[in-house]
Amino acid sequence: MKLYAINEAGFADNADYIASPNFDVRPNHEISIIVIHNISLPPNQYGGNGIIELFTNVLNPNEHPYYAEIYTRKVSSHFLIRRDGSLIQFVSCLNRAWHAGVSNWQGRERCNDFSVGIELEGSDFDAFESAQYLTLKNLLDSLMSRYAIQSIVGHSDIAPGRKTDPGPYFDWSKIRKKM
Ligand SMILES: [Zn+2]
Repeated sequence: MKLYAINEAGFADNADYIASPNFDVRPNHEISIIVIHNISLPPNQYGGNGIIELFTNVLNPNEHPYYAEIYTRKVSSHFLIRRDGSLIQFVSCLNRAWHAGVSNWQGRERCNDFSVGIELEGSDFDAFESAQYLTLKNLLDSLMSRYAIQSIVGHSDIAPGRKTDPGPYFDWSKIRKKM
């Protein structure tokens, strides 16, 4: 049994579940790519509740100047992997999370329609933790066992010029070995 086996409802075993209201139905029920992101709130600070608050629409605009810019955004991701490797799920894989924005993969737009989004707590300026790669590899393994995944891509691959994550410190060789 895989550590983060994905059940029929689209939820990973052993993940903490925090429900985000920011999702809707996948138009074609297709799940064919995985998008890797990085996120930290406040920017480049780790360990707080900002990411969870953003994804659940309770970010306090008075807590940080950057929060005032983004607190009304309706965004989410299926998964977040924290610095200690712990896994949080916000949206069932069967539903469409709102992580990619305007995007295009191999000529297909609106990548949210057909992707699973995984956020790594991190930034474009720091290496990721070994514990994060370990969780990510286990999660990717489980997702590929459950769904017909064709590609694992970065947010920067599907929104070039607009997005830079997962950034130069993300080590693709640690996960692409498995494909
Ligand atoms: Zn991103």
